Amino acid sequence: MRTPFGPLNIVYRILAARLGEVRALEEVYHLRSVWNFVAVFAATIVVPGIVLTWYGFAGIRAEQRAGTAEVSREAEIVSNALYGDIESYFQSFENATLNRMKSGRSLTSSLAEMSDVLRVVFVFDNEGRMVAPFVRDLPSDPSATDLFAMPRWQEAWGAELGQDWARAADRYAALAREAPGLREQGHAVFARGRVLAREGDAGAAELAWNEVLRQYPTVRDPWGFRLGDLARLRLGEQRLAREPAVGAALLRQLVEDLLSGAMVMGQGGEPAVARRALDLLAGKVDPDWLARTRGRLGERSDQLYWSSALLEELDRLGTRGRLFRTEFGVFYYWRTEQALWVTTSTDDDQYLFALDLPGLVAQLGVRAERAAGPDSEVRAILVAPSSSSEGGALSRRTLSRWLDGWAIEVLPRDPEALAARQNERWRRGVGIILLSAVMISVGLVLTARLLRRELAAAREKSDFAARVSHELRSPLTQIRLKAEALQLGLATTDASRDQHYDVIVRESERLSRLIDNMLDFSAIERGLKKYTMRPGDLGQTVGRAVESALVAMEMRGMHVDVEIPEDLPPVSHDPEAVSQVVTNLLSNAAKYGRDAGWIGVRVSVESGEVRVTISDRGIGIDPQEQGKIFQEYYRSLDPRARQRKGTGLGLTIVKYIVEAHDGRVTLESAIGSGSTFTLHFPVRPPRADAHP
Ligand code: ADP
Repeated sequence: MRTPFGPLNIVYRILAARLGEVRALEEVYHLRSVWNFVAVFAATIVVPGIVLTWYGFAGIRAEQRAGTAEVSREAEIVSNALYGDIESYFQSFENATLNRMKSGRSLTSSLAEMSDVLRVVFVFDNEGRMVAPFVRDLPSDPSATDLFAMPRWQEAWGAELGQDWARAADRYAALAREAPGLREQGHAVFARGRVLAREGDAGAAELAWNEVLRQYPTVRDPWGFRLGDLARLRLGEQRLAREPAVGAALLRQLVEDLLSGAMVMGQGGEPAVARRALDLLAGKVDPDWLARTRGRLGERSDQLYWSSALLEELDRLGTRGRLFRTEFGVFYYWRTEQALWVTTSTDDDQYLFALDLPGLVAQLGVRAERAAGPDSEVRAILVAPSSSSEGGALSRRTLSRWLDGWAIEVLPRDPEALAARQNERWRRGVGIILLSAVMISVGLVLTARLLRRELAAAREKSDFAARVSHELRSPLTQIRLKAEALQLGLATTDASRDQHYDVIVRESERLSRLIDNMLDFSAIERGLKKYTMRPGDLGQTVGRAVESALVAMEMRGMHVDVEIPEDLPPVSHDPEAVSQVVTNLLSNAAKYGRDAGWIGVRVSVESGEVRVTISDRGIGIDPQEQGKIFQEYYRSLDPRARQRKGTGLGLTIVKYIVEAHDGRVTLESAIGSGSTFTLHFPVRPPRADAHP
């Protein structure tokens, strides 16, 4: 079958139209509307479809990138927020410290006000000596143990144990005079005071302790107690019994002095002395002061504990050099195993703050945990220097400004879910696009087929116009020729006159059949065709139709075999319409089976239907065309069939009429061996006035 879509063909037809060929003109006109249609289709569906698909893919890709970017952005935000939080954590510590330094308040007490992980603050002088709140160990005194080994000391100590107070006092006095060093002398004086007190001579005891205070205030006993402190404790205690107010004042002063002075790290007895003094004061002084002071003492003891614990690290760092880049109000951070050290300075002093590192890390860890909300796709963690990073971090930021080696990392909260969501997004997007692409393609294919059919129909229609004019003209010409011949008396014999009349009759019949078909088809096309159904003998109707065509058939040299049984069941039908069907089929059989000269007409009853079979032994029909020949205007492409005139309407009308009778038409045919058309009419009564 030639394709009406072939580009060469189209060019050829356009040229033909330019040259004025009527059919080509119509085709081109039709083509133009087809092209318009194509253009509109392209403009409204194909191009937008392609553009949409393109944008769809770009959109998904962008969305995916955006998804990743969104998470990265969130990670960035969380990371920045956490960093800022940590910065402000340290900032608030620094500010609290600076404020204190500016206001001149001591930096060595109420440490929690500056930071809750601040454990101890060391104060150094410009020479790098620790001056507060502690001092480093005193140089060890080699004579410390000697004192107690001295025979005189043992003598005195023995008397004291035996509660021989007078003798003990005497021995200690002698020792005080004879002892080689201040330390021994001081001890002896103090011990003398002690036994005098036991003896009951309070005045003498006080004299002795006051002497200790004057002469040996800083001498320490082997347990680290300062003799001066011990003497003040004793004096206070003693006074408390006689003159409570004076005694309390003395003890309070002792405690204040102890708390504001530097204590000795590692061996200091100061906290114990202060605690003892506070115990003595219980119930005798303002309870608020007592509680406050106990708190201060507790804090100082804690600091002492921490400073001892950190001493080794502090010694390793050294208290000069790079740890002490001092500049007023500038804070330098230095990390060791247990502590985060911070240094700063004023003009006179250098300060060293020790922050409890595990405590600090725990604090920052809590901040990290809180940095991203519970719904966030990400979470922040604090990464220790030793631990290897978890991998897959979306962002990493070191805390080197404060915590050398530590970092904050932001990770996807659930990496698998994140990846799955990305995949899902991609799949859904692609699915939608593919679906629309498939729909557009289906639309395209359907439209192309529609166009093809349109074009074929256009061709058929234009063929039809040509055919009809030809079909009309040739019988008319024949009739006119014969009529003129008769008029002019050119037919001289009876036989030739009869022949002229026959032609006129035959061609008139052909003309009226043609016009009938066209009118019928036009009525059918507009849905106006109606049939009047009556139950009756279909065989008779067929027989009459064959009979009226018989003469014409025989004149064409066709032999018609007719086989119609008598007692057929009645079939509801429109006899005129059925006649037209039979006439059309007979006419085709004659046209396309002329050379064989035989037509068979058979009516039979089979499986509940009356069948009308019209056969010929003519040119036959290509199986590929058998489905198409019932379409309107369709004419076979077989050149042998094309030699015969026709409009392509006959079979369309046949099919229409039979279907209006609730029947159907079947065809058996093969090229070269003839065709058999069978009409199947159901015996049950069909609807009245039916159309298909
Ligand atoms: P027309 O005969 O006017 O062309 P029809 O609708 O009657 O139109 O038939 C359509 C086509 O079917 C014909 O062009 C012809 O090619 C084919 N055809 C119809 N009847 C026969 C037949 N008996 N033998 C061979 N071809 C036939």
